Amino acid sequence: MGVLAQLDEQRVDQLGDRVSQLRLRRSQDPKERFRAKAFSAAAWSLALQRPDLAELHRAEKLTSIEGVGEGIARVLSDVIQTGASRYLNRLRELSKQPERGDESDLDFDDYRGDIHSHTNWSDGRATMLEMARGAQALGYSYLGITDHSPRITVVHGLNAERLVAQSREMADVQSQVDGMTLLQGIEVDILEDGSLDLPDAVLEILDVVIASPHVKLRQEPAAMTERMMRAVSHPHVDVIGHPTGRRPGSREGASYDFELVFREAAKRGVALEIDCDPARMDLSPEMARLAYEYGCNFAIDADAHAPAEFAYVPMALWMARRAGIARDRILNFRSPDELTMTR
Ligand SMILES: [Zn+2]
Ligand SMILES: [Zn+2]
Repeated sequence: MGVLAQLDEQRVDQLGDRVSQLRLRRSQDPKERFRAKAFSAAAWSLALQRPDLAELHRAEKLTSIEGVGEGIARVLSDVIQTGASRYLNRLRELSKQPERGDESDLDFDDYRGDIHSHTNWSDGRATMLEMARGAQALGYSYLGITDHSPRITVVHGLNAERLVAQSREMADVQSQVDGMTLLQGIEVDILEDGSLDLPDAVLEILDVVIASPHVKLRQEPAAMTERMMRAVSHPHVDVIGHPTGRRPGSREGASYDFELVFREAAKRGVALEIDCDPARMDLSPEMARLAYEYGCNFAIDADAHAPAEFAYVPMALWMARRAGIARDRILNFRSPDELTMTR
């Protein structure tokens, strides 16, 4: 990777920190809310356009980047010149983020595939073929198509009959994308009592089962612990999707006995997700670190609802790096053959 690319990585990384930090604090202060939006917009244009930062800095034209005003240009300028920003470091201290001492070395170039995505079979905005082509363009070896289960009626979740129909379309789409394997899966709802929203006989035949909590996240912790324990203990579950359900800035995640649930997941080989959607960032780096120490594996997924959202992954890898997660614990760095999704 060239020096510029590294700068890019580092800067996007730091802006990512900044964005998450401000999202968490945005509740009261409208100025903070505005700043969070501004940093978020800047991070997006940097991530997608990858401008030549050193050159723009030399020419004093950093503000020509879409979304970069004077304040953000100063932060960028610090990072370009010194590799660090006092402003960002101060925010890290304020938010009590861990020191950047034991970060792992994770490179998007080695990311092999994403196992959590949606299509217009449920609430995605693109067809399966468009999603598959998007993943293929990124060089992925596999893509998990994991639309919603029936309980989520507003998005037209899939029951057994529709999954059968979807599998026919998948066979057709698979024949059009060379060199990339489509995995048929489901993002199945973890119901209030911890049972899943589809019968075992259906879950058993799918390639990937992601069980996610979407509703009733404010259950009291004992009930929520029981609910999550039941989900991780289910024999067909491969991954727990966005394990807390948090939406930084607007919704606190569920609270349960994380140690108990994460240890059980580790014991059973159920991976925990780091959902890269900027609206979720769930697990957070701090929680992911905890799960890592308890021995868990991870799935780092865009949870993309359109091909452009695959861009969440490179932007969000910083969460896993920050958590110090080694790559052998991350499913997405494995080849399709090494993916032991069906246990
Ligand atoms: Zn979900
Ligand atoms: Zn999803």
